[in-house]
Amino acid sequence: MSTSATPRTNLLGLPRPGLEAFVAGLGSKPFRARQLMNWIYKRGADSFADMTDLAKELRARLEASAEVRPPEVLSVQRSADGTRKWLLRADAAQAFEMVFIPEPDRGTLCISSQVGCALDCSFCATAQQGFNRNLSTAEIVGQVWLAARELERAARTGAAADATSGSERHITNVVLMGMGEPLANFRNVVPALRILLDDFGFDLSRRRVTLSTSGLVPQIYRLAEETNVALAVSLHAPDDALRNELVPINKKHPIAELLTACWHYLDEQNGRSVTFEYVMLDGVNDAPAQARALARLLHGHPAKVNLIPFNPFPGTRYRRSGAAAIQRFRDELLQRGVLATVRRTRGDDIDAACGQLAGRVIDRTTVRLGNKVIGVAVQP
Ligand code: SAH
Repeated sequence: MSTSATPRTNLLGLPRPGLEAFVAGLGSKPFRARQLMNWIYKRGADSFADMTDLAKELRARLEASAEVRPPEVLSVQRSADGTRKWLLRADAAQAFEMVFIPEPDRGTLCISSQVGCALDCSFCATAQQGFNRNLSTAEIVGQVWLAARELERAARTGAAADATSGSERHITNVVLMGMGEPLANFRNVVPALRILLDDFGFDLSRRRVTLSTSGLVPQIYRLAEETNVALAVSLHAPDDALRNELVPINKKHPIAELLTACWHYLDEQNGRSVTFEYVMLDGVNDAPAQARALARLLHGHPAKVNLIPFNPFPGTRYRRSGAAAIQRFRDELLQRGVLATVRRTRGDDIDAACGQLAGRVIDRTTVRLGNKVIGVAVQP
C-alpha cells in the first residue's frame, strides 16, 4: 500500500491505448501494456510484484503509481438456484449490485453502470432509489474482474458446492442490465466495453456483450460509431401512450424514432438482431391485442422479443402477468413471425432478478419525504 498522497491510477479504467500511454509515461515500451493486460485480465493478478516477466524497474514504478483495484465487496448472497448477487461499495454510504447467473451452457454476469438511475421507469426498483452518480470505467470493468476472480477461486477451492458446476461458473456473457442506464453514462461505458472485447482484455465476442437501454436515441446513434456490442432495448409497450407511462423517456424519444435508431445500429454494425425487452405487467401491457400491435411494429425487422415476467418489489403497484397470459402473448407474436422467448426468473429469492436491484443509493436528484417525491433538486 502506498502512503503517497497522489492517487494511483487504477489500471482497470484504462483501455489498451490508454494503458500504452501510461506505460510509456513510466519510461517503458508501449507493448509492455499487453503483457500487463495479460496479467490483469487473463490471470486475475493485482500485485505488480507477481508480474515476473516485466522488468523490475517497471514493476517498481507501477507499484508507486498504479493499482488494480476492483470495487470493495460489502456482501455476497447466493440464491437457491445458484445465482449470486454482490453488493459493492460506491462510497461510505452507497452501494450498487451485480449478479451472476449460471446456466447449463453459459454464465451471465449482469453489471451496473450507475449508482441508481434517473429515468424513473414506473415498474423498476432501481428507479425508486433515484440517481446518485455514474460509475467510473474502473468500477464497471472492476465488476467483471472481481466476479471472474471470485468464481475462479470458488471453483478451485470447491467452495461453490451449490447448483453451479464446471463451466457454469465461468463468465461467458456480460450484460449491462444491472443498476443504471448505460447510455446515460456513455463516457465511462464505452471504454469499459472496449476492455471487455479486447483480445488482451476479457476477450469476449461482441455477441456475448449486451448493452440494454431504455431508449436514449441520440446515444444509440453515437454507440453505433463507437462499438458493435449486442443491443437490447427496453420497449415494454406497443404504443406511445402506454410507453410514456411506463418508460417516461419515451416522451422525449417516442417509439418510431427509437425503432429507426435500432435498425440504424444494426445496419452500421452488421448486427443480427435487436432484442426488445418487454416486462409482463398484469392487465397493463399483456393483452393479446397489445401483442398483435407489437408484432405489427416489429414484423419484418431483425428483432427478438424477450418477455420478462414482472418481478415485484416493496411498494410497487404492479403485478406479474399470469403464466397463461404470458404464453398467449408469446404465441400471438410467434404466429405473426416475430421471434419471442420468455425470460426465466432467476435469483428472485435474493432480490437479484431483473428490476429488483436496489443497492444503497442516496438520491441527489429528487427531494423525498419518506417514499414520496416532493420535488426535483438537480438534474443529473
Ligand atoms: N436502464 C437499462 C438497463 C437496465 S436493464 C434499461 O432500461 O434497459 C434491466 C431490464 O429489466 C430492463 O429491460 C428493465 O426494463 C427490466 N426491468 C426493470 N424492472 C423490472 C421488474 N420489476 N421486473 C422485471 N423486469 C424489470
